[in-house]
Amino acid sequence: MTTSVTMEMDAVVIGGGPAGATAADDLARQGYRVLLLDRAGRIKPCGGAIPPRLIADFAIPNELLVARATAARMVSPKAIEVDIPIEGGFVGMVDREQFDEWLRARAATHGALRRVGQFERLRLDEDGVRVVHFQTDTGPEQVRTRAVIGADGARSKVAQQEVPGADQGRFVFAYHEILAVPEVPPVGYAPSRCEVHYRGSLSPDFYGWVFPHGDSVSVGTGSADKGFSLRRGVLQLREIAGLTHARTLRREGAPIPMKPLPRWDNGRDVVLAGDAAGVVAPASGEGIYYAMLGGRLAADAVVQLLQTGNVRALAGARRRFMREHGRVFWVLGMMQHFWYRSDKRRERFVSICRDRDVQQLTFDAYMHKRLVRARPLTHLRIFLKDMAHLLGLARVS
Ligand SMILES: Cc1cc2nc3c(=O)[nH]c(=O)nc-3n(C[C@H](O)[C@H](O)[C@H](O)COP(=O)(O)OP(=O)(O)OC[C@H]3O[C@@H](n4cnc5c(N)ncnc54)[C@H](O)[C@@H]3O)c2cc1C
Repeated sequence: MTTSVTMEMDAVVIGGGPAGATAADDLARQGYRVLLLDRAGRIKPCGGAIPPRLIADFAIPNELLVARATAARMVSPKAIEVDIPIEGGFVGMVDREQFDEWLRARAATHGALRRVGQFERLRLDEDGVRVVHFQTDTGPEQVRTRAVIGADGARSKVAQQEVPGADQGRFVFAYHEILAVPEVPPVGYAPSRCEVHYRGSLSPDFYGWVFPHGDSVSVGTGSADKGFSLRRGVLQLREIAGLTHARTLRREGAPIPMKPLPRWDNGRDVVLAGDAAGVVAPASGEGIYYAMLGGRLAADAVVQLLQTGNVRALAGARRRFMREHGRVFWVLGMMQHFWYRSDKRRERFVSICRDRDVQQLTFDAYMHKRLVRARPLTHLRIFLKDMAHLLGLARVS
């Protein structure tokens, strides 16, 4: 059968979120012919909090930041509040509608070819070359390519079709409501402070959040428990935050992957990045930075494949990622496992966050994506305090 193939590319990136747009940008900047395929029309549900490391590493301009958080408030089940100033920096807030489109447009200015369409399937041509099938407004299209980056988000179709083990992914389902900040904001509302609420009735295994975005605010929660009503959780959180009567602009939800997949490539010509690869930090649900890094590492792996023909280069994306962040993911996973289990433990967890050492360590890890190695005694102190709390030997203040 002859195919009506319209294009020949070095690489096709499927999905134009932070992972895919970054991968396409990196490939285009290096002169590769890359097609960035994204289905249009849906804003990614997201709290939109990004750390300084992301802003620096991926050259995000100031105008994309709709707000800057300079403090975080942790709220315990008994409504004990622990305020943590973000010293010497801020957490950026982006609106995903503008942020993602800006990233895609940047890739296009560097030479990536953008197409709006719905990915359908991959197949091998008679000569062994990969063909990507997708639907556009004007009908079906296909493109031949030497490599594919699957960045089509959680429950990735590319992963399911091509990568062994992709069906093992587990998810938290997250839901949020975007509200217009009332002209007279509720008492205690601070436009530059993110709130994180730990309470079983808001989430039995994750947390609820109130993230200000300038004129709007994201109020959300998540849980892996399918029986838990996220809507009821958000309703309660709106009440706690004094935002019950604020105008609701959007209601939306999406799955968040809980664990990196065991493999990110098919050993031939496909590699995954971002949510498609299962890469979101446990305990925090932070995924944008890791998606962009994953996109960058996937692009590097594809460049190596294109240059050397060595298919083993693709596995380098996961290997490099886990070398840099595997330990942090493990620590965060343990933290979620221990502390997000009952209100009694959540109460202790928030209490621990009063500790200056814990604050410093947590913020270094979040803001700069590094575990501080220079102060082993601090780690030991935190470990001992952690154990004291876990065993109930420390008093909850
Ligand atoms: C409610 C919620 C709140 C969150 N809050 C935060 C937060 O505050 N900070 C943070 O860092 N992370 C947050 N996350 C996680 C973060 O949103 C994700 O980890 C991140 O978006 C992953 O980026 P990605 O590019 O891998 O995937 P996505 O952003 O999901 O992008 C995938 C892209 O692929 C496209 N696509 C999918 N299927 C197809 C197809 N068949 N054909 C063509 N295109 C396709 C989609 O249209 C989309 O553009 C949150 C997640 C949720 C659900």
